[in-house]
Amino acid sequence: MPLQLTRSWSTPELESLRATAVRFLETEMQPQDEAARQRGNVGHAIWRRAGELGLLCTDIPEDYGGGGGDFRHEAVIHEEMARRALTGMSNSVHSIVAHYLLNHGTEAQKRKYLPAMARGELVGAIAMTEPGAGSDLQGVRTRAELRDGRYRINGSKTFITNGLLAGLILVVCKTDPAQGARGTSILIVETRDCAGFRVGRVLDKMGMKAQDTSELFFDDVAVPQDALLGGREGQGFYQLMGDLPYERLIIGLAALACMEGAYEATLAYARERRAFGQAIADMQNTRFKLAEVATTLTVGRAFIDRCVEQLVAGTLDTATASMAKLWGSEAQGRVLDELVQLHGGYGYMNEYMVTRMYADARVQRIYGGTSEIMKEVISRAL
Ligand SMILES: Cc1cc2nc3c(=O)[nH]c(=O)nc-3n(C[C@H](O)[C@H](O)[C@H](O)COP(=O)(O)OP(=O)(O)OC[C@H]3O[C@@H](n4cnc5c(N)ncnc54)[C@H](O)[C@@H]3O)c2cc1C
Repeated sequence: MPLQLTRSWSTPELESLRATAVRFLETEMQPQDEAARQRGNVGHAIWRRAGELGLLCTDIPEDYGGGGGDFRHEAVIHEEMARRALTGMSNSVHSIVAHYLLNHGTEAQKRKYLPAMARGELVGAIAMTEPGAGSDLQGVRTRAELRDGRYRINGSKTFITNGLLAGLILVVCKTDPAQGARGTSILIVETRDCAGFRVGRVLDKMGMKAQDTSELFFDDVAVPQDALLGGREGQGFYQLMGDLPYERLIIGLAALACMEGAYEATLAYARERRAFGQAIADMQNTRFKLAEVATTLTVGRAFIDRCVEQLVAGTLDTATASMAKLWGSEAQGRVLDELVQLHGGYGYMNEYMVTRMYADARVQRIYGGTSEIMKEVISRAL
């Protein structure tokens, strides 16, 4: 059964953007994916090409070099990448960083960085997690001290998406350790020719092999005082919390699109593959499994589409966005496991898309706040 893929929020203009994204992904990104997986990063050229085609920062106002659209424009691109297991270029983190700048940056910060991000010349990363602090971000130890008009940053970060290629990193640090959460700030670090900044290992992960998830080290890195996001100290936690619905919905939406792509690939495979004189797709177990998955995706699409509409309208609350992330990532794990099974031994081979999706899916329950943290957030709103 083909899935009903008409999104409630789509328009002819968005479908035309989708066609551009699909062309770019299939003709330019997909052919390079295996090399990027071997290398552990997609390289800068593809970022600049995406920028050239208007596929980056689509929901940033034109005044700041963006596409002037809204979250639906971003959704189209996240969906098409996720449907094809193209997880090397973390456009989602890039967009999240652009939104921190847009929502909390000073006018000068927006003008300085957003146009270069939209062109793909500056790749964005956000560095919160440290070896000793992940879910509990109050435990961040990276320190920034203001001395002679410059902040001096010392500390280390780990698991940072886009860490190797990033030209701009938002670094979460303590400007006043005595104040706890209220002593947390975000500093903008430009990595080019940045003395004391070093990218450590590009980490060897279970999945998302083409994505440059890295360790970062800051050894007395000096940045000007106006590198403080928003220009006021102690706003870091408030800034981080404000953008959570946007980040969590991206993960939920990408989870759904990945499942949709995997379902279609599996349906085609099961119709072609034969055993005991019949197509795998004709066996009752296969039909039942595919029926279950199609039901999950149809129900999930209605919920995620509603979240997209609410985000665009500015009414998506953190608890509902956390449900989108929790439901999407948990369903993705279960569904990919079933779809790998329907591929038999081929489902264990990296040359098959479902195999890569299965490995990529695992982290969706961990990053952007773990499933357990999502349940904490949701339960507090009950
Ligand atoms: C591929 C990848 C990309 C990432 N990208 C980024 C990035 O770009 N930037 C960034 O800053 N970070 C990034 N991260 C880090 C990610 O956000 C953290 O790994 C995540 O938030 C969990 O933190 P932790 O690893 O320290 O686990 P911990 O916080 O140590 O958690 C360990 C376990 O304890 C559970 N736990 C913790 N607290 C509670 C609680 N209160 N109640 C119940 N259970 C709890 C967790 O759910 C988990 O199961 C990335 C991680 C990965 C793997």
